Amino acid sequence: MCGIFAYTGSNGKNAAKVLLDGLVSLEYRGYDSAGIFIPEAGVIKTPGAVGALRKKVPKNFKGKSGIAHLRWATHGEPTEKNAHPHWSGDKEIWVVHNGIIENWQELRAKLISKGHTFVSDSDSEIIPHLVEEHLKKHKNFEKAALAALNEIRGTFGIAMQYKGEPDKLIAARMGSPIVIGVGKNERFIASDASPILPHTKKVVFLEDGEVAILTPDKHTVLKLNATKIQREPEEIEWNAEQAQKGGHEHFMLKEILEAPLVVEDTMRGRLILNKGTSKLGGLDKVEKKLKEIDRIIIVACGTAYLAGLVGEYMIEEFAGIPVEVELASEFRYRKPVVNKRTAVLAISQSGETLDTLEAIREAKRQNALTLGIVNTVGSTITREDDSGVYNHAGPEISVASTKAFISQLVVLALMTLFLGRQRKMTAAQGKEIARELKKLPGKLKAILENEKAIETLAKKYSHHRDFLFLGRKYNYPVALEGALKLKEISYIHAEGYGAGEMKHGPLAMIDENFPTFAVAPHDSVYEKVLSAIQQVRARKGPVIALTTEGDSEVQKIADDVIYVPQTIEMLSPILNVVPLQLFAYYFAKEKGLNVDRPRNLAKSVTVE
Ligand code: GLU
Repeated sequence: MCGIFAYTGSNGKNAAKVLLDGLVSLEYRGYDSAGIFIPEAGVIKTPGAVGALRKKVPKNFKGKSGIAHLRWATHGEPTEKNAHPHWSGDKEIWVVHNGIIENWQELRAKLISKGHTFVSDSDSEIIPHLVEEHLKKHKNFEKAALAALNEIRGTFGIAMQYKGEPDKLIAARMGSPIVIGVGKNERFIASDASPILPHTKKVVFLEDGEVAILTPDKHTVLKLNATKIQREPEEIEWNAEQAQKGGHEHFMLKEILEAPLVVEDTMRGRLILNKGTSKLGGLDKVEKKLKEIDRIIIVACGTAYLAGLVGEYMIEEFAGIPVEVELASEFRYRKPVVNKRTAVLAISQSGETLDTLEAIREAKRQNALTLGIVNTVGSTITREDDSGVYNHAGPEISVASTKAFISQLVVLALMTLFLGRQRKMTAAQGKEIARELKKLPGKLKAILENEKAIETLAKKYSHHRDFLFLGRKYNYPVALEGALKLKEISYIHAEGYGAGEMKHGPLAMIDENFPTFAVAPHDSVYEKVLSAIQQVRARKGPVIALTTEGDSEVQKIADDVIYVPQTIEMLSPILNVVPLQLFAYYFAKEKGLNVDRPRNLAKSVTVE
């Protein structure tokens, strides 16, 4: 998820100033590199965010139009050469891109065979080259841009510029947001309205599959097939902060609602449906070693640790490799038995979590194969591990992790496919898992449509001071995560337990003031969880239960029921956790707490 901002004006404003000032409000979208192109002045790129870019921009760097970018890397390290804008071979076409081009390798190979050379490792760089190629044929920037846009697959929010027509900008959207700003003798393109608002409140939101052609006093909206669309600008009432949050009150809600897109982005170009397996670029170079390992130890902290617990069940069941999950803070200080046939897999959103990093270092000292599942490209863990897989979830701003957890589970499922197919998993079984993975985004959308009902439920229970979360097998870690989310942002006492553990202790706490949230989907332990709910009922404990659509039993014994679509057992945590995240969110919101910045906590824990 990058931030893009572009400007064209004929009213004397300096585009470089407009762009640099505006980029600041997009920093939440990406901060590992920044870049700006002004046709009259040239290009400047740098690792880091707007501050670093400003330092490199000389006073005489001026012009009437230009494009700018803040990067959150998905393909290629966060270095200067991989920073946007990217340019064509003849340096005529300039592009900033937010998203992932799925068929970039195929297109790049084609372009190389036609004589193009590439200077970066980014997927985005193929776009200007592709436009350049079409421009040779069409001799028209708009036609060439449309032809190129029709060839790329994946997600994109794009702004591009052609040196031959410097006051014209072209924007396009597929899966990544694009807002067009309509000012007096000036037009803007941005990832959200926040950098546009100081100039104008009039905006046009592009929809997926749409393109906009802008000059300082005109904008035209087209479909990818070139048919024109009539769309009047609307006046927005949001302030810059609301615009950054997509109109939501908190980043946490925005990030929960991103789940369907995050699942798609995490799987993009990695799922091979017809072979029932996955292709994970990062694991290619250790493919042989992965065949030889006989044990996996997952090390992580907090929510990532809970994703690891789900991963343990997935990998053991479908790849047959023994897996242990350990808190990184424990692993690093004891004497773990590890050898070169052990893979130690670190899971960390930031890739900077100190305990997890130290665990990986310890594992390396003992000759283990070290792997990572990390969201932040180029972070310390990704530099130090032997190999790894990126989440592609985009930056997570809210301290409480939601979308990163979902993407960690998806990566673990993809890894399970890969490791399983290397071993005894049949193609048929692999295909079934792959097909079910593919259906998750649609099912997540259906769950999120139920948001209001969960909000009502959270309000109803928000006066309680204690909460028990129950789940079993694949959904045991989901129960732990439900409790952790509530603790983190509501500051109330919440415990997660395996449903089978009730009679070994927690049942003693239950009375009419101690509610239980039971995760009871239709899986192999459904009846066991139902009986745990009965035990709670018998002690007069209020019960909220999550179960599978079509169920008729749970409503007979629970006070409140949330229904979730059916999927295969190993993937059910990816769906079931979302209502729990929403529940925690609305619970904390009802209490008037600072949801995105809970007291005493920090996003990336780089200290002990
Ligand atoms: N895929 C592009 C890159 O890595 C854009 C990244 C993004 O939008 O997250 O440069």
